[in-house]
This record gives sequence, structure tokens and C-alpha cells, in this order.
Amino acid sequence: MLQFFTCVSHIAFFGVIAMKLISTRHQSPEVDFKEALFQGLAPDGGLYRPAEDKSILDLFRGFKPTVPFNEIAEKVSNLWLRDEWDNASVTRIVERAFDFAPELRALGGGVFVLELFHGPSSAFKDFGACFLASCMEEVLKEKKRHAVVLVATSGDTGSAVARAFYKKKNIDVVILYPSGRVSAPQEKQLTTLDGNIAALEVKGSFDDCQRMVKEAFRDPELVEKLTLTSANSINIGRLFPQSFYYIDGAARLHESNAECVVFCVPSGNFGNLTAGVYAWKWGLPVGEFIAATNVNDVVPEYLKTSAFTPRPSVQTLSNAMDVGNPSNFERLTAVFKGNHRAMVQVIKGQVVTDEETKAAMREVYAAKDVFLDPHTAVGYVAARRYLAEPVNHGRKVIVLATAHPAKFLEIVEEATGKKPHLPSNLKKALSLPKKSVLVENTLDALKEFLGKHFGV
Ligand SMILES: *Cc1c(COP(=O)(O)O)cnc(C)c1O
Repeated sequence: MLQFFTCVSHIAFFGVIAMKLISTRHQSPEVDFKEALFQGLAPDGGLYRPAEDKSILDLFRGFKPTVPFNEIAEKVSNLWLRDEWDNASVTRIVERAFDFAPELRALGGGVFVLELFHGPSSAFKDFGACFLASCMEEVLKEKKRHAVVLVATSGDTGSAVARAFYKKKNIDVVILYPSGRVSAPQEKQLTTLDGNIAALEVKGSFDDCQRMVKEAFRDPELVEKLTLTSANSINIGRLFPQSFYYIDGAARLHESNAECVVFCVPSGNFGNLTAGVYAWKWGLPVGEFIAATNVNDVVPEYLKTSAFTPRPSVQTLSNAMDVGNPSNFERLTAVFKGNHRAMVQVIKGQVVTDEETKAAMREVYAAKDVFLDPHTAVGYVAARRYLAEPVNHGRKVIVLATAHPAKFLEIVEEATGKKPHLPSNLKKALSLPKKSVLVENTLDALKEFLGKHFGV
């Protein structure tokens, strides 16, 4: 049996240039970070990823368990972005992005949760969305330009983006959501901000909203006139900052230096896990990653069989993870150069059912007085199962807590018999009147709105 749990080693070339990004499909020219921010997807349809790795190991060694999150965010950003922004700009970007931080909580038996839901929309997507918004604001100020962010949402992404861009200068946001198909609290989070955030309630489905956004981006006149840009989850400006909280979580457990922590990541599109794997690639001492999914398990299945077979998603309690064809899988395999065996050494799959998810919510509440949202509960079950294997005894697992339990009030109440308290931002959104514009599900309707709203 293993005496010491050593980190899986890897060979990386640590370059000296700033963040250069290449497409996972290698058919597009290299771009810098500022450019990739506004492009989202690479022209060849691939995803941008860092062309080289940088070592964060020296930085990491200097982080005490009490280090403020913003200091980690600043130092890591400086390392990557110093050719594009001076120190003062990086500090400004970080300060404007994060007025919230992760919180680590011990649940006993070697399991910890890293709460990532203390931001403006009460979900981990706030880290990515707020950093992206802050970077875009900085670039637009430098270039004295104005841009319009156009997003289609089925709920969660839209609220994180809306809150992140709220009151940002030189940027307006237009959110399209399907009428009657997002939950009431989600709708309130989308529609109660004023100022630079407009919510379009589309008479149609989420697919209609996505189609309208795609059609708008194919209209060169519109794109040019408004400087249309997107803010979806494949944007490197959202992925990069997600590496910060892995470094933060590992630093909090720094005392136990000899060991390498294990991260357990409740996953859907696999952006979150990819960001963690990047941090590991840059030298963060991580033992292993657990890829925890609900029954939408194409990635755990790939880890087991080496066959990647996307299929239609099925509905579960952890609905933000109901993904049948994870978009970031392309980035994840690129890290391992497509080598299945290399990936399996570092990432372990776990699949969790709705029944197990509910039982975990009940159990943790009864034993610890702690509410878990259904996504975090999937991670918790996966972590416990992992630690029950003899080879993993004594390890420490940090489960990423991806959403505030109050965002999934009914499910949590059904499982535990109790209602979690609403965080103040959610409470406030619920008390405000909904403001949205009802539109038909056509590009013409969208163009008419944009024309009136922006006077073009
Ligand atoms: C988006 C989301 C996930 C899945 O994250 P990915 O990066 O898509 O894997 C998990 N939990 C919650 C609450 C989410 O909103």
C-alpha cells in the first residue's frame, strides 16, 4: 500500500512569454488574452487554451493558509498577464472583480467543502463571470470603445453574467431567456437589475434564444455597429480565474504540506474541472481530481472505457450538470495530448444517482447542520465513495461547493425537511419588480429591440 501520497508528476515546459492562446483545433492564429476575451470561440471552431505553461510553484509556496483570496488572484494574474497589463491594472481588475471569496469548511472524515457561492449570484460561475467583466471593462476603457454583450440563458449562466456586468462602464448586456421556462427566483435574478442590463423574455425555448444569438453574430453589420460580443462559459476569460480558487483551497490546507490534496469537482460542461487541471499543470501540488457527475456520465464512462460517446442529456436534481456533450472536454483532452492513460492517472470518475444525492443532503444536514445544494451533494457522495477505497484512506478531499443551497430551495427542503436561509442578494432580487421585454422568437424581433435600445 502507498505510504506517501505523492502527486502525479508531469513534464511541462515553462515558458517566459505572456499568455498566448492557441485553438484546440490548431487552425487559427495564436492570440493574446485581450483578443481572446472578445472572440470567445476561435475562428476554427476550437477553444482557446494556453500555448505554454508557467510555473506557479514558487508563488504557491509563499501562500500561507491565511492568504487573502484577492492576493492569490492578483499574483497569479500578474504572472500570466504582465505583458499585457501593468501591476496597477491587474490590481484594479482583481479588486473590481472580487468583493467575495471562497470559504473552506471541514465536514469531517477527510472531507472539506470549498464554498464558491458567496458571490453576487450565489454560484461558482460568479468567479469566472466577474473576472471576465472586469477584464472587458479595462480593455474597453483603454480603447475608448463600447461593447454589447449578448447572451442566451436557460437560467444560471445568465444571472451570473447579469450580476457580473452590472454597472460596468462602456458595456451593455442583453440577456435572452425563454419565457415561462426558467424558475421564478432565476427570472428575478435576470430581470431586476436596471441600468446597463436588459432582459428579453423570448416567446420560445432556450434553443430559440440560442439560435437568435447565433444569427445576430452572423450579421456583420450588427456585430460591427454594436461591437457585439459574447460571455459564454467557453471564454478563456471565464476559465482562467477559476484556477484561482483551486490554489486558494490548496493553500488553506498548506499545513499538511507532505500530502497532496484531492479535488472533487461536480461537473457538467467540465469547465470547472479543466481550470483545476490547468492549475495542476502549472505546478499546484494536487494528488488527484475526482470528476463527479450525475447519471449524465459520458466523461466517467470515457475514463473507464476510453470511448467518448456524447448522447442526449437526461434530467436530474443537479440540473446544471445535465450535459450530454460537455463542451470543455476538448480542452481537457488537449492537456493530456489525447492520451487516455495519462488522463486516467490524474482524474478519477464517479457517477452519482438522484437517490444518493438526496440521501447525502439528508445525512449531512442531520449530522453537521450543513445544507448542501444538489450539485455539491453529488460531489460529496463521490468524495465519500473515493475515501472508502482502502488505497485512498487518510487522504484529504476538497469538494467544490458550486451553488448556495437556497438556490435549490424545494429540493433541499424535500431532502432535509428544513429551509435554508436565503442569501441577501437573492432575497433582494426576489423583492424587486420584474422588468423584461417580451419578444417573438425571431432575429427581426431581436434586431428591432437592439435598434430601439441602442439607437442604431
Ligand atoms: C455550471 C454548474 C456546474 C457545472 O460546472 P461545469 O464547469 O459546467 O462542469 C455545477 N454546479 C452548478 C451549481 C453549476 O451552476
